[in-house]
Amino acid sequence: MRSSPELRPNFWDALVALAVVLLAAGCGFAVWGGQNGAAALTAVVSVDGVETERLVLADTGETERTVESNGYTLCLRLTETEVWVEEADCPTQDCVHTGHISRSGQSIVCLPARVIITLEGGQPVDNGVDIVVG
Ligand SMILES: [Zn+2]
Repeated sequence: MRSSPELRPNFWDALVALAVVLLAAGCGFAVWGGQNGAAALTAVVSVDGVETERLVLADTGETERTVESNGYTLCLRLTETEVWVEEADCPTQDCVHTGHISRSGQSIVCLPARVIITLEGGQPVDNGVDIVVG
């Protein structure tokens, strides 16, 4: 049996909330200030508008990913700092020609295969459109 007197002044709740906020702020500052000034850059792979994979580049390291979609096959290459489509059998080859992306907000799109690879996180660039929230 658990009784939770809800009418009690929520002093502890307030304190906990405050602590959480402070902690979150602290983490935020740690991310901003630390790690050689770079936050975790994440490659988000979407197939047909559905996110299928999320890879933190720094954690993933150098790797390859094969994405099959809509009858086409894309060979992705990832390193700790950038992503590119090394090979694809789509007719337009736009995704291959896009080349390497290495900054947050950049993306590679393969229309025939309906695959989108987007970079998120990382440090905002100078003309930064992105504001990091959370
Ligand atoms: Zn393509």
